[in-house]
Amino acid sequence: MLIVMKKGSSREDLARVERAVEDLGLRPHVLPGAERTAVAVTGNAGPLDPAPFEALPGVAQAVPITRPYKLAGNEARSEPTRVRIGAGTLGGEGFFVVAGPCAVESDDQILATAHLLKAAGADALRGGAYKPRSSPYSFQGLGAEGLAILARAREATGLPIVTEAVDEASLERVAEAADVVQVGARNMQNYELLKRAGRQRKPVLLKRGMSATLEDLLLSAEYVMSEGNRDVILCERGIRTFSQHSRYTLDLSVIPALRDVSHLPVIVDPSHATGLRGRVPSMARAAAAAGADGVLLEVHPSPERALSDGRQSLGPDRVGELVAELRAIASVVSRRAEAVR
Ligand code: PEP
Ligand code: MN
Repeated sequence: MLIVMKKGSSREDLARVERAVEDLGLRPHVLPGAERTAVAVTGNAGPLDPAPFEALPGVAQAVPITRPYKLAGNEARSEPTRVRIGAGTLGGEGFFVVAGPCAVESDDQILATAHLLKAAGADALRGGAYKPRSSPYSFQGLGAEGLAILARAREATGLPIVTEAVDEASLERVAEAADVVQVGARNMQNYELLKRAGRQRKPVLLKRGMSATLEDLLLSAEYVMSEGNRDVILCERGIRTFSQHSRYTLDLSVIPALRDVSHLPVIVDPSHATGLRGRVPSMARAAAAAGADGVLLEVHPSPERALSDGRQSLGPDRVGELVAELRAIASVVSRRAEAVR
């Protein structure tokens, strides 16, 4: 249920509504908006009677939320969510570029990447310190040392850091060191991890599972949001289909579909989706044209020497050109025209 407050209602009115919700053993989520404040109610097993809420002072109306993702859906919030990351904002009008290697390998590798990305106009540096690899024999990441390397790169360039947490122990460290906590495709339905990610304060970049539907993805976002963290960024990174010409199939149609039902920002990862660097620029441009709020690109200073995902990583040349192209495309598509309704 969504309890919509009247314009000009007081703090006391809002506090009274929150108490009324808690008295029923339910959870109130206050949603401030430009137009009006609302309170989303979660925890109820069946439908709630709006009458007792509508009788409270300052309440305009109480309406049911019909979709299962109460906080991630646009019934509760109609304005697009903007997530502050470093000095920038992801979601809203701009186009946000997250880039960097698959894995943190060394100080030199990350520093070289960070400087090249800064010059190319990227907004954030990515790199895995903890790596969820398909094979137990593949490089598993540098762990805490990798986080320290990323922090040094942030200090040197000012670029905020996006890095992945693979379990509850790494989440704690990542939440402390990073600007954005990434939850990977393989962990998209690790509900305990999602709840923990919801209890810390850094924004969460949630990658779509390789077999996850739009509803699965939004319900995973809901796990994070229901714990109090509203800063969730959704990421399409390709799904499994019968196609064999590509590592995964990039499902760009999920962008307008998400816009129809959610206020959360959506970015696209063409690197993991295609698996081949030659295909990354065209799919990144397609993502910008389809109205994505940004991209996540794998970039390595010498891809042929990368310890993971070298084949899909862009080299240092042409990154600046691609970033400029993406911004140019994003600026001519009016993505907010078809955005949150
Ligand atoms: C990654 O971003 O490095 C990664 C492992 O991606 P995914 O979870 O989408 O496979
Ligand atoms: Mn990778």
